[in-house]
Amino acid sequence: MHNSETSSSPPQIPGKASSPFNGQELFERLNSTLKNIDISHSINKRTDLFARRMGRRPRILLCEAISPHSEGLNNLVPTAFSQWGFDVDIHPGGISHEQTARAAIENDVHVVMLPFSCARFEPSVTQLANAVATESCGNILTVAWKPSVAEVEIKCQDDGFSQILSVDHDIFSGLSRLLERLEERKQSQLDLNEYLEGVIAGNRTTIAKAITLMEDTRPGHQQTADRLIEKLLPLSGNALRIGISGVPGAGKSTFIESFGMMLADKGHRVAVLAVDPSSSKTGGSVLGDKTRMKRLSGHPNAFIRPTASGGILGGIAKKTKESMVICEAAGFEIMLVETVGIGQSESHVASMVDFFLVLMITGAGDELQGIKKGILELADAIVINKADGDNIERARKAKKIYESSLSIVTPESPAWKVPVLTCSSKNMDGIVDIWQTISNYRSSMEASGEFSQKRSRQSVNWMWALVEEGLKERFYKRSEVKVRKMTNAVKEGRMSPTDAALELLDYDSPCSGCNRITTRNRAEKLPGSSNFRRL
Ligand code: GDP
Repeated sequence: MHNSETSSSPPQIPGKASSPFNGQELFERLNSTLKNIDISHSINKRTDLFARRMGRRPRILLCEAISPHSEGLNNLVPTAFSQWGFDVDIHPGGISHEQTARAAIENDVHVVMLPFSCARFEPSVTQLANAVATESCGNILTVAWKPSVAEVEIKCQDDGFSQILSVDHDIFSGLSRLLERLEERKQSQLDLNEYLEGVIAGNRTTIAKAITLMEDTRPGHQQTADRLIEKLLPLSGNALRIGISGVPGAGKSTFIESFGMMLADKGHRVAVLAVDPSSSKTGGSVLGDKTRMKRLSGHPNAFIRPTASGGILGGIAKKTKESMVICEAAGFEIMLVETVGIGQSESHVASMVDFFLVLMITGAGDELQGIKKGILELADAIVINKADGDNIERARKAKKIYESSLSIVTPESPAWKVPVLTCSSKNMDGIVDIWQTISNYRSSMEASGEFSQKRSRQSVNWMWALVEEGLKERFYKRSEVKVRKMTNAVKEGRMSPTDAALELLDYDSPCSGCNRITTRNRAEKLPGSSNFRRL
């Protein structure tokens, strides 16, 4: 892993004394690069190409800087990289190097991006680079940043970094070279048996690679993925699956840290899967922010893996469900699936777990917002988080409001009355009660037979989700050229969306040509009309 390559061909100044780390300067340079539409567009095109070639987006783990004045950078850098089409994991600064290396392996990232400073000033950064190299057997590259080309010193290149990027020179060439390098590397591909054995043995690296395989969009890889799932399915199903949803800021990560720690300390093996919606514009996303799961991410009984939705909502369900099968086959007994309570992702997650917990916070309008979203119908329990300090009283009032709202919702099961609880994830108050509630739910539902009925229903739904996804995929593949033509025709106003849709459906039909849709019967063939047969 001892390197060396610089991101550009800068004039190097051997022996020049480095200036101290200047976060503000770096912030400004990165900010202006981000605002440059041409550069951003070029980087986006490059990451798109990478995703097509490699079956997934470039994934980087950003280690937060803990130097003074680095807060702005810690916020800006993930935004910049996700806008450029990268999948970004954030890892808190100030934790052990081994823990960071372990996170890099569990998330199966391509690159660990080190904090923004010079190795000369922070020898710990070099130690971190070496820990990543050792733990990943050299599979994960480490990248350091320099504020300016002039500061890229020969010494830094010998300090365990795979590459050094600088912001002032040409960030596009630096990143292109990095992506090229990743594409050129011969990734040792596991075969089906290696995946199987590794997952069953609970090997973290193999579990992580198997989850990546599920996310891989390349046809050959998808086939292996399908065969792997087929083999693992009989070994899965023993875990308790808990979905956790809530608006951003509700405290999901903090809750999972507390709840997961309580379970892991009790000896349960806990896997956390977090679903993060990708930007539909750039494809990139900021994945689970582990800054609030510091302790859990280092616990020997825990495994945490955020997954990007890849911009396809249906895809979330498929990937998460398959990741769940992998973790269960690997022996994890409790699955925590975190999802942001916006859009459709929460109903996808609700449809694949045994227990769906909705985290709420008190505050203006929150109580009503939840009711509007139909969340009460999905929830198996509502938990009002942040019931601490002077918020305790407000939490109690909110609890009453939810309880009275729930009293007018028809319960999904006669064996379960949806409870409203309060907790403080920060102080660990009420966390044990929540576990007790979930355990009670399991016992009641098992006693009434509904536990397994729900799972059977979910399996059938999963089958249909796969069918729909497969049909969509097949449709796009078969009709690629036509789709492009129709899209342009609609864009340029030469065709109405309705006519274009019908033309496409007709084109894709197995007996296209023998059963051309006439204008007369067109209306009946559209989704929504009673004669439309859903495939
Ligand atoms: P998420 O976006 O839903 O994952 O929310 P986070 O876990 O990131 O928390 C958002 C903010 O709420 C952070 O500043 C947390 O420290 C804070 N927070 C989370 N849980 C609690 C809690 O129980 N009490 C208090 N007072 N703050 C909390």
